[in-house]
Amino acid sequence: MFTAGNHAGGEHHGLQAVTKLSMEIKPAIENGTIATLCRMCDTRCSINVHIRKGVLREITPGQINPVNAGRMCPRGKAAIDVFYHPDRILTPLKRRGDGSFMPISRDQALAEITRKIQFLRAKYGARSLAAWKGEGVGFFQQEAYVRRFVRGLGSPNYFSNDSVCFSSRYLGNLLVTGFWSPFPNFARARLILLLGTNPPVCHPPFMRSFADAREKGARLVVIDPRLNPIGCRADIFAQPQPGTDGALLWGLIRALIRAGEYDRAFVEQYTVGFAEAAAYAERFTPEYVEQASGIYASVVRAIARLLMENRPEISVYAGAGLEHYENGVNSIRTLVILATLCGTVDSPCGLYWPENPPLADLALAREEPLLPKQPIGAGRYPVLYDLARECHTMTAMDYMEGKGDYPLKGLLITAANPVITNPNTRRVAAALAKLDLLVVNDLFMTRTARLAHYILPAATFLERTELHLNLEYQRLYLTRPAARIDGVGTEYELWRDLAQRLGFAGEYFPWPDEPAVCRHMLAPTDISFQELEAHPEGVVYAPLRYRKYKRQPLPTPSGRVEFYSTYLKEHGLPALPEYIPPRFRYGADDDYPLMLTTGGRMTLLYQSRHQNIPRFRLIHPRAEVEIHPDNARELGIVNGDLVRVVSATGELELAAKVVHKAELLKGTVEIYHGWEEWPANLLTPDTLTDPISGFPLLKSIPVRVEKVSGDQAAQC
Ligand code: SF4
Repeated sequence: MFTAGNHAGGEHHGLQAVTKLSMEIKPAIENGTIATLCRMCDTRCSINVHIRKGVLREITPGQINPVNAGRMCPRGKAAIDVFYHPDRILTPLKRRGDGSFMPISRDQALAEITRKIQFLRAKYGARSLAAWKGEGVGFFQQEAYVRRFVRGLGSPNYFSNDSVCFSSRYLGNLLVTGFWSPFPNFARARLILLLGTNPPVCHPPFMRSFADAREKGARLVVIDPRLNPIGCRADIFAQPQPGTDGALLWGLIRALIRAGEYDRAFVEQYTVGFAEAAAYAERFTPEYVEQASGIYASVVRAIARLLMENRPEISVYAGAGLEHYENGVNSIRTLVILATLCGTVDSPCGLYWPENPPLADLALAREEPLLPKQPIGAGRYPVLYDLARECHTMTAMDYMEGKGDYPLKGLLITAANPVITNPNTRRVAAALAKLDLLVVNDLFMTRTARLAHYILPAATFLERTELHLNLEYQRLYLTRPAARIDGVGTEYELWRDLAQRLGFAGEYFPWPDEPAVCRHMLAPTDISFQELEAHPEGVVYAPLRYRKYKRQPLPTPSGRVEFYSTYLKEHGLPALPEYIPPRFRYGADDDYPLMLTTGGRMTLLYQSRHQNIPRFRLIHPRAEVEIHPDNARELGIVNGDLVRVVSATGELELAAKVVHKAELLKGTVEIYHGWEEWPANLLTPDTLTDPISGFPLLKSIPVRVEKVSGDQAAQC
């Protein structure tokens, strides 16, 4: 078994002496309030940080930002718990030969890291080095800094956690409409269709929009193998077999086309490939969909009727639940086609085509292409690289193991924990351990950080100045620091200081600090830094304008919505988003009869974050595998039993949670993916991927569950 960790258990890794917070904290003000944005998840609510006598005391919601409009969730309030957490890493650490860590000065750490980078670059070439961005401390400018750094280094290898979460949805949208659609304005919808998402947990502020829409009579349809709180409130809740969303979506497309209940004028003027899509949809009769997905034909017809009755005032939203399959991008494409047929493209509650402010290009996205340098995974997943301009993290393991076109020898990771978040935990850990140089910049000691040669202390979002862009409301925001901690560098300072030592800061990081970076980005706009400082609720950079496709072509190769993609065909991929049945089904394999899904969200945790906050731990004390009562009965398992979940990739022991029969499809088991001590990715394979995005199969994985002991699983 993978050794149980202690990330959340309060062990201080022998570092108590260096993690004491006392005189090193420099609050931005002694007494008063700092208005900023919360980054404890990606929603970015406005918050007020209250400081008294130099201590960050409390966080309350900002009142006038439409994103959260005076509300916030408990995660946001716990940002202070993270800031003052006794386990925070506050000084650079160097790993000793025996695996323990010793504190060193920042100067020494940066000097040694620089020497190692120079050595590896001279010996193996610049592309033997890479950087990997997570979201543990935030995103946006952070991503741009990392992209600039690898470019300055001369390497093409920029990685991010997006290539196991988000990029499939991003590509699916881009391939059909040419743009990434932000969250819909649910409040204006007459019908809300949600797939594979859990808004009360993932995006609590959405619930106000849902409530507004429902008060006005909006209908709600929720499609998810797992019943969550939003499903309980739905007019129709349907549980497809994992990985069969595409069949349902094609069935709905067929119903709309057959009934002539779609936006004909839009389709004729602004789409390509309708005839091919209509012909392909023909096989997806309600009965076929029932057989493929398990959703009754009558339910398919009922959902189709709701779409017909309420179009075009329909909000469609898919969470990560649709993308973690071998055919995830095509499921997303199919959903976007359905939304298009309903007439929702660039409409007030539909697929909004956002306009960007003319910010300076910090990420250097328009610079010279790096393809000739063979970015890792770009040959295998050219569409991912072409559209997202990022390398494929799972292929990186091959390169660390020496199985690539060239070796990957050095990796700098900021605020990511791939040992936990990438599939096949054991292999990821082994691959990272082979590196000649692994640097991790993070807030806490994680499973990934333990493997590092150097760990650098990261700053929380409460310590940084950054611009943020909200496409949904077309607003720009400025976050401002509530405090700084001596010796803890911001994201900008990390990359700038390394670049300085490596000799390319003048070209890539010429600004003295974060506010100067923000001013540089704002220069092409008519919004000033001072204006943003004065408006913590954000500044609207452009009014929301709808149906822009009537004035300008859509940003696809054809300038139209593409039901059929010639671009994909040229890459040897199916031009239509064809449905491919899931490879695995419940009961098909005697050794591994059950289907594991991972990635469901938990109320107070966010991916691999926040599990070390003691008061959250009272609510979520341990990992559990959720199991249907019929399966539990067959296996002689009762609530709380210690069980072993076994897949072809690995095994994991944890407590069983026997759920209500309505909560989970029979044959499906669910494990939260982010636990430091119980990594669900010990069980997930890294060999089965989406051919367009390279995304791993993180759901519908064949497993078996064995009872280990009837003792209450406190022993886990
Ligand atoms: S939803 Fe909660 S955690 Fe997320 S930004 Fe808002 S307050 Fe912060």
